[in-house]
Amino acid sequence: MKILVVEDETKTGDYLKQGMGEAGFIVDLARDGIDGLHLALSENYDLAILDVMLPGMDGWQILASLRKAGKDMPVLFLTARDQIEDRVKGLELGADDYLVKPFAFSELLARVRTLLRRGSKAVEAACMPAKWI
Ligand code: CA
Repeated sequence: MKILVVEDETKTGDYLKQGMGEAGFIVDLARDGIDGLHLALSENYDLAILDVMLPGMDGWQILASLRKAGKDMPVLFLTARDQIEDRVKGLELGADDYLVKPFAFSELLARVRTLLRRGSKAVEAACMPAKWI
């Protein structure tokens, strides 16, 4: 499973990359929005973890561009701002989940696994002959 992390805070980014790597994922880390979008469009990821406030392009813009380009991998947002407007905006844009910073790594991992399971079930169902469903 390949995951894209877009996070400009060095400490958080390194921590996520290391932690997700130890959990068995292949992780690419981008440190600004423009690199993040470029990677997301040029590679195939099973999931993306996007910080909201990023230099170059924010997490909302990345998500909007991905969906416009037909990339439908699950997207989990990290936000320092626990504000209702953020959640509403993200859901309207097609975000799949949220985590408010600071978060526990175990919670992030649990949510990532849930999103991936949901995603792979949809793929399996789509690939399966009708008689197996
Ligand atoms: Ca940030």
